[in-house]
Amino acid sequence: MTHEHSPTGLPHYDLYIDGAWQPAENGQTFTVYDPATSQPIATCASATHSDVDRAVRAARAAFDHGPWPHTSPAQRAEILHAIADALEARNFELAEIESRDAGVPIRKTTYNDITLGLEILRGCAEMARKHPYEPLPWNDLPSVSWNFVWREPIGVCAQIIPWNYAFCMAAWKLGPALATGNTVVFKPSSLAPLSTLAIFQTIHDLNLLPKGVINLVLGPGGDVGEYLVTHPAVDKVAFTGSTEVGRKIMALAAPHIKRVTLELGGKNAMLILPDADLDLVVDGVLWGAFYHSGQLCEAGSRLLVPHALHDTLVERLVERVRGMRIGDPMDLETDIGPLISERQREKVEYYIAVGREEGATVVIGGGRPIGEAFANGHYVEPTIFTGVRPEMRIAREEIFGPVLSVIAYDEIGEAIRIANDSIYGLAASVWSRDLQHALSVVRRIRAGTVWINEHHVLNPRAPFGGYRQSGFGREMGRYGLDEYTEVKHIHVDLMQRRQGRLWWDTLL
Ligand code: NAD
Repeated sequence: MTHEHSPTGLPHYDLYIDGAWQPAENGQTFTVYDPATSQPIATCASATHSDVDRAVRAARAAFDHGPWPHTSPAQRAEILHAIADALEARNFELAEIESRDAGVPIRKTTYNDITLGLEILRGCAEMARKHPYEPLPWNDLPSVSWNFVWREPIGVCAQIIPWNYAFCMAAWKLGPALATGNTVVFKPSSLAPLSTLAIFQTIHDLNLLPKGVINLVLGPGGDVGEYLVTHPAVDKVAFTGSTEVGRKIMALAAPHIKRVTLELGGKNAMLILPDADLDLVVDGVLWGAFYHSGQLCEAGSRLLVPHALHDTLVERLVERVRGMRIGDPMDLETDIGPLISERQREKVEYYIAVGREEGATVVIGGGRPIGEAFANGHYVEPTIFTGVRPEMRIAREEIFGPVLSVIAYDEIGEAIRIANDSIYGLAASVWSRDLQHALSVVRRIRAGTVWINEHHVLNPRAPFGGYRQSGFGREMGRYGLDEYTEVKHIHVDLMQRRQGRLWWDTLL
């Protein structure tokens, strides 16, 4: 049962298996904390392997024997729209849940995350209507035939997401999987599971999906997640998270040749061309680097700037960072909230120390904000390093925090080389007043998304995903739906040969 209060007095959430809320078999739970205060805010059932088995079995049965994969795309679209409408009615509540749970400033959750998640669900609904059928060109060799492609659901999908964009991520995993007729076993991060739980509760209350179509397991990734990924009855694994875990998941999925899509880390460059509009750049760089304290896979963490603009730009950035408001994520005025956990703060502080040791200079930030309001949250000041060289670790490794590395360059070829000199290839942005020039640079950047004079903006109709070790497969747009389907070619013979001859005789 969800929303029941546990003995601790906190709201308690169970697993969702086969259309019902269920405790873990052994009664084990874990606690969810508010990253701004370190106070406990909820407890959740922690799944055992046998709970995961039950969830996978329920999804398997719903796929193999239930009506769901055979419902029409139009029916599925109606259901997705109904889910989006019901979630929209809870918009502000969901924004609060996400902000409290993950420390995301409420301005972002209210005006971006929830809205974007809903747009994605609705986009999937609309795209699904036309997705399953594709006519192929008429064919008259080797025989006259009518050819077309049906896209069919893959089966049981394990979907695993991180904590940093939980509501959106849940929407952009569930949306395409359901739109194309799959069944799901979902695992959110234990650090921020509450918005996913709210989505499942909303769907449960609507009572439009057959039992077993969506299932939710909760608990530690290394145990629950790993067991889920290796489960033989799972057909596809859709994972978003770190490159380190993604690498492991690919190996775990290999023995059963499961379909895998991986949305992994990034070390994204913001490349400023010499003719860029500096007013726009200052806003854009702050937004690119410090939105949600840099805890976004596509965050701009490397700033490549021509020597001639370096000092002016850095000066202006520093001045603006001084004016940013660090504080309570529930306050609409807050620009920078806490990091998700103490562990994440330690990681970010470790990299700040590494940057200093490597010889880079902290021009602003570098520490923890001081004051009673920050005493128990995992806050780190927005930090800018100058004097960064491309070979430094702070220029190469994903920090996932509010840390920007500024690298000065001499000529554009060098800047493009630096931008591409990474194991990652998730996103980048190019800043210029000259669109032709910007596009010629974009063509040479190895990344799945490249913005011109913008950063972060995700379009529910456009594909999102990485090159290289940022993963493979795409989410969103029709590309996202493709990843949840098998492709079946149908050949209808129109020759009606009945001469008692073998087929190949007709070719002679
Ligand atoms: P993480 O890899 O530690 O965990 C992600 C999820 O995987 C969590 O639910 C976790 O419980 C689970 N998990 C952990 N170990 C597992 C295992 N061995 N088997 C199965 N599941 C396991 O990542 P995180 O710290 O939660 O999130 C931050 C990372 O996610 C960053 O690297 C960021 O770049 C990446 N990210 C990528 C995208 C994208 O779209 N490319 C989006 C958001 C975040």
